[in-house]
Amino acid sequence: MATKTLRTPILPVTELEQAEFCRPTEDLEARPLAEEMGAHIRWQQIPTEYLHLNARQLDERIGAARKQLGKRAIILGHHYQREEVIKYADVTGDSFKLSQQAAAQREAEFIVFCGVHFMAETADTLAGPRQQVSLPNLTAGCSMADMAPTDDVLDCWDDLARLLGEDQVLPITYMNSTAAIKALCGRNGGIVCTSSNASQIMEWAFEQRPKVLFLPDEHLGRNTAARLGIPMEQAVLWNPFNRLGELTEEQIRDAKVILWRGHCSVHTRFKVAQVEAARERFPNVTVMVHPECPKETVDAADLNGSTEQIIKAVNESAPGSMWAIGTEINLVHRLAMRNPNKTIFCLDPVVCPCSTMYRTHPAYVAWVLEELVAGNVVNRIEVEPATKAEAKLALQRMLDVTAARTKGWDKA
Ligand code: SF4
Repeated sequence: MATKTLRTPILPVTELEQAEFCRPTEDLEARPLAEEMGAHIRWQQIPTEYLHLNARQLDERIGAARKQLGKRAIILGHHYQREEVIKYADVTGDSFKLSQQAAAQREAEFIVFCGVHFMAETADTLAGPRQQVSLPNLTAGCSMADMAPTDDVLDCWDDLARLLGEDQVLPITYMNSTAAIKALCGRNGGIVCTSSNASQIMEWAFEQRPKVLFLPDEHLGRNTAARLGIPMEQAVLWNPFNRLGELTEEQIRDAKVILWRGHCSVHTRFKVAQVEAARERFPNVTVMVHPECPKETVDAADLNGSTEQIIKAVNESAPGSMWAIGTEINLVHRLAMRNPNKTIFCLDPVVCPCSTMYRTHPAYVAWVLEELVAGNVVNRIEVEPATKAEAKLALQRMLDVTAARTKGWDKA
């Protein structure tokens, strides 16, 4: 008998704040932090002297701090960071690539991760014993990761074990999840996946156990299941706010994939109507979207792929080609700037940056670096050792499986 306590659905705060930076034009330029703090989201308070610095002053101070720190510090910039932050990054990439590269550079004692909370946790999980990770703005979370709180996932895991028996379900968590969820996967024979390798990982999972619990992004899970040919009626949605995920026992027994009800508030904005509008405007356009988009949007697009795959496809395309992209606006904007001989635009006509990524303003970077120069590690993200060990296990399984399967599944 399930013991789950029913409770009222509560949207994560990061989800409620998501639309705060949306605007009708592509005016993505940073303003002094004091002005940006007018947006109705949570901001980490930092010393007042940083709030009114303009772009030139920030540039000078960040440059001076970096010079003093030298190779002792490495700055990582996720692809969705704004231009004014990414320009300071020593390495840019998706979250996993960044964490791996930082860990490989053992002379870097300080890892400043310009991204969101779960990314800094992954960096700390993979970091060496002398490396310390800082997140410039502690309020930079991720609404998708917040949709899978540990207690709710543990309830689900217990319910599934009670109903189906032990060792019938393999947990897969997307990289965009907390270290605690990665650890849950690690200690239960499960694994982590990225949007690049999700198909390989799910394929492997079905070789281990008959069913998969996919966390925390229902869309990536559904798109991956569809890609493996799993009938959609066997990919059921687990609603954590209701008993047994709002599913019948029969539905759970018949399912192959149990999808956690979570999503990315940025990628769920991309709709089929936007794909149709882009094609109507530019009949030769290629539409490429991220697999965190809803399945109908992915089905309507020409291509889908991770951020790294989108970048590669656009960069390697012929001059004069035309792209409508369904992913975060800062990346689309950067692709357009770096490929001036191509037409590249965002599928969504409303410019809506990821509000948690966007709250890393260069003033926070300046503050963290200057504190490091002064000998203080601020905003340190530290994963507790037991959680770290189990999360690392799930990450290592992913690396092993991906290395063993190089058949090019993900050339979407
Ligand atoms: S783009 Fe989506 S998944 Fe990525 S950090 Fe923002 S909310 Fe999270």
